[in-house]
Amino acid sequence: MSQTATGPAERPYGRFFLPGPTEVHPEVLAAQTRPMMSHRGVNSQAFMRGVQDDLQEVFCTKRPVFIATSSATGLMEAAVRNAGRTKILSLTNGAFSERFAAIGRACGLEVDTYQVAWGETHDPDVLRAHLENGVYDAVTMAHSETSTGVLNDIQALATVVHDFPDTLVLVDSVTGFGAVELRPDDWGIDFVLTGSQKAFALPPGLSFGVPSARMMERAKEAPYRGYYFDLLLFQQNHEKDQSPTTPALSVLYSLEVQLTRMLAEGMEARWARHAEMAQRTWDWVDEMRGAGIPLQVMAPEGHRSPSVTTVLLPDGVSGPDVTDSVVDRGWLVGGGYGKLKSTTIRVGHMGDHTMDELNGLLAVLTGVLS
Ligand SMILES: *Cc1c(COP(=O)(O)O)cnc(C)c1O
Repeated sequence: MSQTATGPAERPYGRFFLPGPTEVHPEVLAAQTRPMMSHRGVNSQAFMRGVQDDLQEVFCTKRPVFIATSSATGLMEAAVRNAGRTKILSLTNGAFSERFAAIGRACGLEVDTYQVAWGETHDPDVLRAHLENGVYDAVTMAHSETSTGVLNDIQALATVVHDFPDTLVLVDSVTGFGAVELRPDDWGIDFVLTGSQKAFALPPGLSFGVPSARMMERAKEAPYRGYYFDLLLFQQNHEKDQSPTTPALSVLYSLEVQLTRMLAEGMEARWARHAEMAQRTWDWVDEMRGAGIPLQVMAPEGHRSPSVTTVLLPDGVSGPDVTDSVVDRGWLVGGGYGKLKSTTIRVGHMGDHTMDELNGLLAVLTGVLS
C-alpha cells in the first residue's frame, strides 16, 4: 500500500480530524505488525526501560509514567480510586469533567461539584471558597475539555489547591498532553492522565498516568482502589520494568516509534505547531463570519484548547448534516458532544497533522457551509 506523509493513501474511513481517534502516521501504524514478545523477561524489560525514559521526557517529568492497557477513562477511574477516601470535589464545565464526577460517585465516593456552564472556565477564587467550606481528598478537573474546546488553567487551579495540603490535584489531560504545555512536577499535579488515541496520535488501547509521591502515599490508604487500577501494583511492576498485567503489546510497539518521532520534533515545537493549527482554525471561523456565515468558536478567547475547536453553527444548520457532508467528501470532523450534538461540530486539530492538511479540511468545510 502506498503511503503519504501522514497516513495511508487508501483511507477507507476518511481523513481524521476527529477529536480522537486521530490519524496515525504510517511508520507508527506499521510498528504494530512486529511479532509478540513475552511481557516478562529481559527482552521486555529492556524495551520498557527505553520507553520509560522517553515517556518521562515527553511528559516533562522525573516521576514514573505508568502505562495502562485501557482507554483513558480507565485511568480517570484509577485517579479517583487511588486518591479518594470519602469525598472529592469535581470541577465541571463539559462532558468529560462531568464524567470525572460520575466516576467518583460510581466508585462509592461522595462528590461535590463546582459547576459552571459548558464553555466556561473555573475561577480560582471560587475554587478557594469551595475548599474552605469542605474537606476534600482530591479535586478533579479536565485540562482540555474536549466537548467544548475550553482549555482550563490547571496550573492556576492547582496552585489554589496547594494551600489545602490534604487535597490532591487530579487532571484529565487527554486532549491536553502533547498539544499544550504540561509540567506535572513543576505544577504540582498529583495525577495526570492521557490516552493513546488523542494528541499522542497512536492507535487506541493504552493510557498513561503520572503520579506524584503524595499520590502514591495516598493510594496506600485508599479504600476503593480496587485491583486492575491499583497504583501500588503499577509501582511495584514499574520498579521491575514490567506492567501488572499483559499490556497491549502492539500499541506499545507503536508507542516506541512515536516517542522517537515526538522527541525528534521536540515538545515545545509540538506545542507551537498545535497553537498554530488552532489559531488558523479560529481565524477561519472569523473569516466565515466576515463572509456572512455566522460561525462562532464556543470557547472564550484566551481559554481555547490548541487541540480541539468546538464550532457553534448558524441557526438552522444541523451538526449531523455538516459532519455527514464532510464524510461524503472523504474527511472527518467530530460531531457535537452530548447536548451540543445538533448545534456544534468539533474540529480535532491534534496529533501529527500539518497546516497544509488543516487548510485542506477548512476548504472542505467552507464548501459544505457556504
Ligand atoms: C477522549 C476523552 C476521554 C475519554 O477517553 P477514552 O480513551 O475514550 O476513555 C476523557 N477525557 C477527555 C478530555 C477526552 O477527550
